[in-house]
Amino acid sequence: MVKPLINGFKHFRDNYFSKERVFFKTLLERGQKPKIMIISCSDSRVDPAILFGTKPGELFIVRNVANLVPPYEPDEGYHGVSAGIEFAVKDLKVDHIIVLGHAFCGGISELCKNCKDEKFGLDNKISNKREFLDSWLQISKKSVIDLDFDNWPGPTQHIAEKNSIINSINNLKSFPWISDLVSDNKIKLHGWWFDMENSSLWDLKHKDNKFVRLVP
Ligand SMILES: [Zn+2]
Repeated sequence: MVKPLINGFKHFRDNYFSKERVFFKTLLERGQKPKIMIISCSDSRVDPAILFGTKPGELFIVRNVANLVPPYEPDEGYHGVSAGIEFAVKDLKVDHIIVLGHAFCGGISELCKNCKDEKFGLDNKISNKREFLDSWLQISKKSVIDLDFDNWPGPTQHIAEKNSIINSINNLKSFPWISDLVSDNKIKLHGWWFDMENSSLWDLKHKDNKFVRLVP
């Protein structure tokens, strides 16, 4: 049923757009100039604009399964995430890139399951293999494969989610033009983890790769 979306759009038009006409006109005339890029999960429960209370024009967002950043691979492939990063950094000149992970991520859960099966010699049945998803999740395999899968999906799940954020931050640094900007202090990389269960936000400290609470 898509009717609620159509009603939602009518509500947006009548109650938001009509009251913010000048704001939207300015956005149209001067174009978008967001200073923050967010790479977040496609998970329907993790909507950056709602979580951070932002207005149109404030965030440049790329969402994908498990909020992964691939490594720098300049070849002929169809690199959608890297294309978004390139546009944000080179054209929009964002000051910050935030990799936003979250608790109970289905993508990370699938990756853990695959790693556990591989570790214990249990091949996934061919029929269970996903055509695209499993290879996509391989981006973070190295950050997860050595975890304690006896405790998964217990505490290991959240460790895997955080390790994967660290892996994505490292992959961001593998883009030479990002690495240069980081060195020159012209762009800041952030790893955030949203604890959906307790509604808290955690921040990666780059010094020791540990997450500390930002809120509350
Ligand atoms: Zn997720």
